[in-house]
Amino acid sequence: MEQVLHFIDGAFVPSEDGRTFDNLNPATGERIGMVAEGGRAEIDKAVRAARRAFRTWGRMPAQERAAILHRIANLIEENLEELALLETADTGKPLSLAKSLDIPRSAYNFRFFADFVKGLSTETFEMEGVALNYALRRPVGVAGLISPWNLPLFLLTWKVAPCLAAGNTCVIKPAELTPMTATKLAEICKQAGVPDGVVNVVHGFGPDAAGQFLTEHEDVDLISLTGETTTGKAVMRSAANTLKRLSFELGGKNPNIVFADCDFEDAIATTVRSSFVNQGEVCLCGSRIYVESPLYDRFVEALVDRARKLRVGDPLDPQTDVGSLISEEHLERVDGFVRRAMEQGGRVLVGGRRPEHLKRGAFYEPTVIVDVDETCEITRQEVFGPVVTVQPFDTEEEVIRLANDTHYGLSATLWTSNLKRAHRVAGELEAGVIWVNTWFLRDLRTPFGGMKQSGIGREGGVHSFEFFTELKNVCIKL
Ligand code: NDP
Repeated sequence: MEQVLHFIDGAFVPSEDGRTFDNLNPATGERIGMVAEGGRAEIDKAVRAARRAFRTWGRMPAQERAAILHRIANLIEENLEELALLETADTGKPLSLAKSLDIPRSAYNFRFFADFVKGLSTETFEMEGVALNYALRRPVGVAGLISPWNLPLFLLTWKVAPCLAAGNTCVIKPAELTPMTATKLAEICKQAGVPDGVVNVVHGFGPDAAGQFLTEHEDVDLISLTGETTTGKAVMRSAANTLKRLSFELGGKNPNIVFADCDFEDAIATTVRSSFVNQGEVCLCGSRIYVESPLYDRFVEALVDRARKLRVGDPLDPQTDVGSLISEEHLERVDGFVRRAMEQGGRVLVGGRRPEHLKRGAFYEPTVIVDVDETCEITRQEVFGPVVTVQPFDTEEEVIRLANDTHYGLSATLWTSNLKRAHRVAGELEAGVIWVNTWFLRDLRTPFGGMKQSGIGREGGVHSFEFFTELKNVCIKL
């Protein structure tokens, strides 16, 4: 069986000590490969290569880097079919979703930042007759990029593209459950003309392993992490000794607020998507649904009906709506949340179990739970699966209080045809991204990131470049 290797200094290499771990397809439970398990030696080598490469990549004119990034985007598009199959085998997500969302967006991430970097500007301040100040924007150095398993290439390229566009080099640590598209990306980067050492990929685990060694490495300048809030806390601790610059996109427990005056069809159709797309394994999923009392019964009935009709099954079947969860272990975790919700008085209206017709794979039915309140674990903790709760509310004040009653603050959605209310409630919600009458719609120039314990910093457009560049001021006496 072929081994998925590290990519260090332009070459695919195994681990020095020969260690590997298994890669499983969660939809079948079958072993689909072995992955090189990196440790301190591989991280050291990759960081040294990235530091060497920084001397030339960081000085290359942005136009030239941008041209290479466009070639990467072209190659991702040319390899769409293969990349989508790899992503589906690793994650269990429907192939149709990988083909329509994950891979096209990965290509677009490169195109977007390649174009954006060419228009970046800095400020000038004139002290009349005395001095002229101008700021220069420079790359920071070697970045550690740590990505999660839910949207592996999509979220990895959201980091790699601005990192490279700005002139930094990087060491990537993909989630251990989804190693394949990051490895293919390394191959594509080489083909596109990215010099050796600029992009390195080290596979392996997080705590006390490759991930942690990267975050504590003294020659790594900045860390961009997308992952769980608890991982953010651990990374912050291990990066503290070397005072690294940090960007965190972390967990969410996002409210989806439905007022009775909404466009019902829009609200219900989008809610089905924002609850169950990618098996609910999206940080932005609206897992806490609040519906204004007059609409509550009708909304719950429609949601349950549509959740029941979603086709759960083989990710390769174009008719499939909901694929497999990432692993058996994760399924047990998701199911544990549902069991405990029931113990706390929650009523499962649909789902809450493995589908009977599927004999293998980590499949879980789309699940709707009612009769819970803000004291229940299920409304407070991130489940990261196809599980939502629905609660009624009576007033705007009440729903704002409920929505904000959380340590998380990633995103929030609200449905209303009252423009004044939309502005008012959007202003009050404690979340970094607010959607009104839509969900997941993104202009990549806008700031993206979480408030409270959902993250640190913002990504997107100039915000990504603020993280990946240093500004220095030059003061010239006139
Ligand atoms: P994890 O936090 O478990 O892992 C994310 C990455 O961090 C993985 O590569 C993991 O490695 C690595 N890691 C884990 N522990 C450490 C450590 N101590 N030091 C360094 N690296 C470490 O997240 P998941 O992969 O489970 O992804 C799901 C989470 O990501 C959810 O909480 C979700 O909300 C969040 N997320 C947030 C997004 C946002 O934009 N805010 C977007 C998407 C997801 P390994 O896998 O090998 O353990």
